[in-house]
Amino acid sequence: MGEQAVTVNLQEAVFRSVETLSDEMISWLQELVRIPTLNPPGENYIAGAEFIGNKLREFGYDTHYIPAEGLPEHTAQHPRVNVLGRIEGATPRPTLHFNGHFDVVPVGEGWTVPPFGALIRDGKLYGRGVSDQKAGIAASIFAIEAIRRAGIRLHGSIEQSGSVDEESGGFAGVAYMARHGWIGKDKTDFVIITEPSDVDRVCLGHRGVYWFKVTTHGRIAHGSMPHFGISAIDQIGDVLNTITHKLKPTLATRKTAAPVQPPGSRYASINVNSVFGGQPEEGTQTPCVAHRSGAIFDRRFLAEEDFDQVRSEILAMLEGLKAKNPDFKYSMEDLMIVHPVHTDETCQLVTTISDSIHTIFGRRPQLTASPGTYDQKHVVRIGDVAQCVAYGPGILNQAHLPDEYCLIEDVVNSAKVMALTAMQLLGASPFNGTR
Ligand SMILES: [Zn+2]
Repeated sequence: MGEQAVTVNLQEAVFRSVETLSDEMISWLQELVRIPTLNPPGENYIAGAEFIGNKLREFGYDTHYIPAEGLPEHTAQHPRVNVLGRIEGATPRPTLHFNGHFDVVPVGEGWTVPPFGALIRDGKLYGRGVSDQKAGIAASIFAIEAIRRAGIRLHGSIEQSGSVDEESGGFAGVAYMARHGWIGKDKTDFVIITEPSDVDRVCLGHRGVYWFKVTTHGRIAHGSMPHFGISAIDQIGDVLNTITHKLKPTLATRKTAAPVQPPGSRYASINVNSVFGGQPEEGTQTPCVAHRSGAIFDRRFLAEEDFDQVRSEILAMLEGLKAKNPDFKYSMEDLMIVHPVHTDETCQLVTTISDSIHTIFGRRPQLTASPGTYDQKHVVRIGDVAQCVAYGPGILNQAHLPDEYCLIEDVVNSAKVMALTAMQLLGASPFNGTR
């Protein structure tokens, strides 16, 4: 609870204010969707950051631009620039931070509407990145503005950030901001990441990710006399075969207690990202036994699995192949490790946002966990902020699809949820007759 329960009168005033603002919010969202902030490669990030920053400044935020200085992906051609605004309340704490990433994935094939046209039809707003997750950015910015325009003062402080590169790991985005003290437990109490959660669901966290590369080493020989060589492709074939027929069935028996959506992703899993080796596909072919081959794997692990065991299970499998075949030589390299995160469902942030959803929709939210990963890992692991969830109006299964859309009604309703949550967490009261 905040300093005091928010009265029904204040709640109704802010809901009316969100309704009044909704046309302004949706046309701002359309403009944001029209900026093609594509990742890769990281196009129009300055335009995206400034578009958000200008609105924050207009709405009274103290606004900062945060370029990811020192990171290799922050280049003159594709600068990585984040934006963060803060409105200081009567007290600096608690601080509620809304974060949304404004990078969008490539357009891809199969669109029947212009991907950056922000077309509205039948109550839906279409465009690449609208559900994932520019609608969330619009909802949180206008939710707080609706509070101000209703003549209500928040007691704690509000921050809003627009960040880059979530789709490619968030290292120049939320990770950078957390590492440089912009988001962290010394200043931040609650973080709501406005990713698409479906408007009446709250996402508490995500599974773990382990990307690794296995390289096999053979011996080159003439392709007409392969018995003189050792095929590294045959070796990686054995690895893939063992994964398909032994490891995958084992992983399919491990199920998390976390409410991962979709339910099919509640099991431990592994996917082959790429296979390489031998003659280049595009090149002129010569008859050679491949001396080097390999594959890159994406292992998703559960909160219930220990990472060291996840890794040693792979090593044991490779050692088993080596024991059976003296010619089997391999090396293994870790490419990315993301540990699972899961916010306590009894914490103040989760209970407050759940109550807000109940108020707006008349039903308790479904609490979920993500099969993938998103910037929560950086907020929790680098920023050490325990109370972090994802909540936003976007439709989760619209993310990255052709003809991506978001329901306008959802943007409006989620803004109400966000406004009520902010008032409950930070405390709220009418301005003293000064408006
Ligand atoms: Zn996203």
